[in-house]
Amino acid sequence: MSTANSGGRAHRVPPKATKHDSRRNNLRTTLELVSHERQTSRAEIARRTGLTRAAVSSLVAELLDQGLIREIGQGTSAGGKPPTLLALNQRGRDIVAIDLGRRPFRAALVDLGGRIHERVDASPEAKPVRAEAAREQTAQLIEEVLDRAAAPVLGIGVGTPGVVDADGRVIESANLAWHNLDLAADLRRRFSIPVSVTNDAQAAALAEYRRHGAERRNLLLLKIGRGIGSGVVLDGALYRGDHSAAGEIGHVQVKDDGDLCTCGNQGCLETVASVPAILRRMGADPERAPWDALTLAGIAGEEPVLRSIREAGHHLGTVLATVLAMLDIGQVTIASDLRNAGDVLIEEVRSSIRRRMLPGTAELVEIATTPLGADLVLAGAASAVLADRLGVVLR
Ligand SMILES: [Zn+2]
Repeated sequence: MSTANSGGRAHRVPPKATKHDSRRNNLRTTLELVSHERQTSRAEIARRTGLTRAAVSSLVAELLDQGLIREIGQGTSAGGKPPTLLALNQRGRDIVAIDLGRRPFRAALVDLGGRIHERVDASPEAKPVRAEAAREQTAQLIEEVLDRAAAPVLGIGVGTPGVVDADGRVIESANLAWHNLDLAADLRRRFSIPVSVTNDAQAAALAEYRRHGAERRNLLLLKIGRGIGSGVVLDGALYRGDHSAAGEIGHVQVKDDGDLCTCGNQGCLETVASVPAILRRMGADPERAPWDALTLAGIAGEEPVLRSIREAGHHLGTVLATVLAMLDIGQVTIASDLRNAGDVLIEEVRSSIRRRMLPGTAELVEIATTPLGADLVLAGAASAVLADRLGVVLR
């Protein structure tokens, strides 16, 4: 706690703002409680938060007024008057979410409960959309989805490949040929709606964190597609690092004399464990072979395919073991475009990790795929909007 002499913060925050902040915090807590409990009552909120009944009534009134929660009927009486039950108003707001990490780009409406409506894909193109064309297509997709909104729009959430700072500026995205692009400001100007831009793997980590609920405080999400990225949630918050590049493990070198990587170094994790790398190592052309071929071949148990998937898993495990040993994260989610062949990959990652960490600790690490599938980044981009706009993780 700060004292009068503890420097900046005590001087910057006048007492009046503190009171305002505390009401805002209580509104957040109340909204999160209603969302996590599915249904609850004013009395229950008072009991759980330690706030007075009068304070809770006032907070609930404000949330009802804003349309974020709703009354859903009467509960059972514990003696007196039966309590009025409260629940999240799922369609009280819409969020426009867009995933720029897939081809073609996809946008959708996401409600407060995380359900996805109105998915819209950009038209498929022979060549990947980049630079200015990618920016235009992003804006067009957002516009198309905005037109379909059924509720007031809380914000626009963008999940994009590349390094993105906390203000939503894309520092560098090799895939989209964006350098120092202030995407959040650009979209805010066009649509006059708050915008949250997040790295796609970091957004995916937020979606997984929201799905796991209160059982997890720490989580690592590994995203394997055209490239390899990861997102880390530490103690309930997305960890971005000093240069917004936390989780960029795709360019950690795993082979001294490995293949040349797009980054200019040799033998990066991406050169052995991205989907194109796995396809190349099994003798297929990643630009021609449909990625489903890899899944089918993996299911059929074809030896060259299994070998390249296992090699990928081995190297992924090597890099992950160091991260997990350092941070003691108990939940790893692997989101890959490998679909069913992913089981082989996960098994290899698991055994690779177990060979490289304290066995007792490695045993406790949960490694799994996600049921969110292709919606992962959309769900995460929406979660980023909830966090930025309402300061909450809704479940
Ligand atoms: Zn590299």
